[in-house]
Amino acid sequence: MIRVLLLATAVPVAAWGMPPALTLPADTATQAARETGGARADGLMLSGAVRQGGLVRGTAPAGTTALTLDGETLAMAPDGRFLIGLDRDAPPTARLVATRVDGTDSVRMLAVQPGTWRIQSLPTLPKATPRTAEQIARRADEIAQIVAARATMHATDGWRQTPVWPVTGRISGVFGSQRIYAGEPGAYHGGVDIARPTGTPVASPLDGVVVLAAEVPFSLEGHLLLIDHGMGLGSAFLHLSRIDVRVGDRVTRGQPVGAIGATGRATGPHLHWAMTWNGRRIDPQPLAGAMAVNR
Ligand SMILES: [Zn+2]
Repeated sequence: MIRVLLLATAVPVAAWGMPPALTLPADTATQAARETGGARADGLMLSGAVRQGGLVRGTAPAGTTALTLDGETLAMAPDGRFLIGLDRDAPPTARLVATRVDGTDSVRMLAVQPGTWRIQSLPTLPKATPRTAEQIARRADEIAQIVAARATMHATDGWRQTPVWPVTGRISGVFGSQRIYAGEPGAYHGGVDIARPTGTPVASPLDGVVVLAAEVPFSLEGHLLLIDHGMGLGSAFLHLSRIDVRVGDRVTRGQPVGAIGATGRATGPHLHWAMTWNGRRIDPQPLAGAMAVNR
């Protein structure tokens, strides 16, 4: 998630608003559901990109007592709203089951569209830099802090909002891109990079609660900021020069939280913005949509 890669590609912009409240006849609804993930006779509403790296917003029909995705229980708000994040490498189908109060299930098979990732093959392996025992121990501690922070859950409704860009500028790295070194796939790029000078303010894309604010720069992420947007959705900001919020702070969409930098492993000043849903990496770029030009 810290690799700095490549140029921007055009990524389709997903509609991320809630779907219109329509109920289609069952026969046409099946087709519509396949194409848009929209409403169907079972009353389950989905909107957003049902594709690898996508985030889907759903509304369960009244009387739904439980939801599962591939057997895993999904969190559901009291009003029936829920989220599904599809990992960059999500399999082609996902099975969504809604259990009603009378014990009956409705099953929706989701066809997950493949993502289009920028893959670059290089003939040689990167030079491995051996790490000292101290570096290894430090890294283990940093990872433990990230895992612990991500495990904390907060009541915040940020997940219901449409994200704004934390900062605008040239996209210098896209989600999902990957280098293959002499046939060995490297880790894929797990966020979107926006290149701007050090000190450029960075805002929270959604309402949320700060769960990690690394005062001492992490070895890879530098000054790392993690924000919980609720419902398993979170943002990570890497390489910051400055963090202006503390763990436990509530932030609102558009609120400045820090500034761009090049701390940690970075080739130059930029913001690496990553989003996760329950540990799955999703692509922030189509969620934030077209960027208002301010370069
Ligand atoms: Zn990056």
